[in-house]
Amino acid sequence: MNELRVRFAPSPTGPFHIGGARSALFNWLLARREGGKFILRIEDTDLERSSRESEENIKEALRWLGIDWDEGVDVGGPYGPYRQTERLGLYREYTAKLLAAGHAYHCYCSEDELEAERQAQLAKGETPRYGGRCRCLGDEDRRRLAAEGRKPTVRFRVPEGKAIIFNDLVRGTVSFESSGVGDFVIVKSDGIPVYNYAVVLDDALMRVTHVIRAEEHLSNTPRQIVIYEALGFPLPAFGHISLILGKDRTKMSKRHGATSVEQYKCLGYLPAAIVNFLALLGWAPEGEEEIFSREELISRFSLDRVAKNPAVFDVDKLNWLNAHYLRAAGPAVITELALPHLAAAGYVTLPLSGNERAWLEQAVAVVQEHISYAAQAAEHLAVFFKDDVAFESDEAAAILRDADIPPVMAAFRERLAALPALDDAAVKGVLKGIVKDLKLGGNKVYMPVRIALTGQAHGPDLIRLIVLLGKDRVLARLEKTLKAI
Ligand code: GLU
Repeated sequence: MNELRVRFAPSPTGPFHIGGARSALFNWLLARREGGKFILRIEDTDLERSSRESEENIKEALRWLGIDWDEGVDVGGPYGPYRQTERLGLYREYTAKLLAAGHAYHCYCSEDELEAERQAQLAKGETPRYGGRCRCLGDEDRRRLAAEGRKPTVRFRVPEGKAIIFNDLVRGTVSFESSGVGDFVIVKSDGIPVYNYAVVLDDALMRVTHVIRAEEHLSNTPRQIVIYEALGFPLPAFGHISLILGKDRTKMSKRHGATSVEQYKCLGYLPAAIVNFLALLGWAPEGEEEIFSREELISRFSLDRVAKNPAVFDVDKLNWLNAHYLRAAGPAVITELALPHLAAAGYVTLPLSGNERAWLEQAVAVVQEHISYAAQAAEHLAVFFKDDVAFESDEAAAILRDADIPPVMAAFRERLAALPALDDAAVKGVLKGIVKDLKLGGNKVYMPVRIALTGQAHGPDLIRLIVLLGKDRVLARLEKTLKAI
């Protein structure tokens, strides 16, 4: 069999959406599994909306996700250039061929005329499609229209009364009627080809064997197939992967939270977790397992386990996966990812000294079980930084006013101050000693001490907190809080 060649062909028109990343990943997994080639092509023919900045974002996000490309922008390859605006000469050659063979024609209809036609069809309850006014113009008509100053588009002549049938690798047999398609523009009046045309030339000339892309392109496929046929190119296999819906089953949008890869990166998600999560958006391996390394995904991924029905973006599942990968990565990695968030909260000043980092990593180790993504570290670590203790509730403050508590606080202050150095065993000894000597239940010691030091009834491991805060900060907090009640 010929080598499998797949591509990811983003339009660089804005943030890199999570859905685009999923398409890239599915293609990449296929290429890696089959030992084929993965191509990155930039579809920038929408001159107004495309930008180099967006292209750079996409490439950076792909690299971050570990999705590398064998051919394409930046790396080159035998079928370049790989940016559509650098291929305009090529497209012109094929347009000339299509015009010469009668598969395409110049259309001089103005925007206004086309809009009037559309409205008239809609008013009659018809599906709008080009009526064919310029389909059969003679040379003389063309000269006259050009003399009026009209700049023509190039329209593809869609064969009439033809069923366009193909076997979609995800959706099975799909069929369209050519009469429902209508002659469509392939080159705009400014000479720039439209997506449906450029994509065919590129996929054919780049020898793409499998076109795997989002479901929203399914309705473009019949237009693309008639162009393949007119030019005598072999058809690639097509596979349209389902939409991504939010948990409320409406199309994923900003309302559902972060939608771009960059946002997830900034929030402190790990690429391995995102890759694992994206792979499961529409693909389901056999069995119950959900955690897959990149290598496992490569060896297990297959299109026949890609579902037709929409994928649901479950952010709780993403958080669960990310928490797993974060814990596996360890406190040093979590700390690094958390730094910008801790700096933004005003808890640290960057860059950290070696000692500060070592201290912070220990604090992160105390709270890491509660962190799903690194941005949450700021909230969980707050008690390590806020020396001005604020009570979370009146109830919390009231606990410290209990008649049993002042002797506890006095003993704690005295015994802690007397310790030569703080370590887990010594601090534990102090707290246990107070429980024993004052003959109180643990609830009269541990929770009040915690409230006095943090203002909260619950939180990270108390002994570790005390050790990491150090004697001076603990005693200072205690003093301030006791004055405040
Ligand atoms: N440029 C198109 C997009 O970003 C590519 C569609 C395709 O893969 O054919 O949606």
